[in-house]
Amino acid sequence: MAVRTKLVAGNWKMNGLRADGAALARGLAKRAIAAAHAGPRCELLVCPPASLLTTVAGALAGSGIALGGQDCHATAKGAYTGDISPEMLADAGCSHVILGHSERRHGHGEGDAAVREKVLGAWRAGLVAILCVGETQVQRQAGQASDIVAAQLAGSVPNGAAADNLVVAYEPVWAIGTGLTATLDDIATMHAAVRARIPAGARILYGGSVNPQNAADILGLAEVDGALVGGASLDAESFWTIARCCA
Ligand code: PEP
Repeated sequence: MAVRTKLVAGNWKMNGLRADGAALARGLAKRAIAAAHAGPRCELLVCPPASLLTTVAGALAGSGIALGGQDCHATAKGAYTGDISPEMLADAGCSHVILGHSERRHGHGEGDAAVREKVLGAWRAGLVAILCVGETQVQRQAGQASDIVAAQLAGSVPNGAAADNLVVAYEPVWAIGTGLTATLDDIATMHAAVRARIPAGARILYGGSVNPQNAADILGLAEVDGALVGGASLDAESFWTIARCCA
């Protein structure tokens, strides 16, 4: 079986002005360059707000840390006020884009069909789609977690998915930004269920209050191919400490 290199991705959400983004990116780049031969055994990605992409791209140059968007429209251009296209993200230096994050699904009413179109748009522009799935607290308590995640995958993964164009992030909605995390058993069980539904070799990240204290246990699970990190990615030392947990 091919080894899946772990991926630790930072979702900065709607945080930071240019000076903040540049300082955070420089802090990460400095650590990555200094540890080039003995650094974390994983790939690193940061997904800043769209307004910071070019600033952060400049600060990360030569560090090996990749850049991603937090969302995109499905189409390449047109009359879509306030949106950003996959091609624009690629043009700004992005290699990845987060899609179907729960803050888009629940805060902006995005359903699986819309997310699926966005994945296709990302692929058209040559981006890797990081597709987020996850159940709410009510759904978990009702014993529906695996059915919900299976339905999200069925509805939002298009034909043509492959290990090099799709990453799935399992993010229980109730664990995002709350300080709560799923148990290691629940993470392992859900990741195994997701694994059975996606192309061989595609990576599955865990997301939901990953921090420097819990990262080693979570990233140590065989079924976990990395982490999608929100709050703890806004501090260079925290994010770096999490990345270093990739043994
Ligand atoms: C996220 O935004 O995808 C996330 C997991 O956030 P946090 O780490 O803050 O829970």
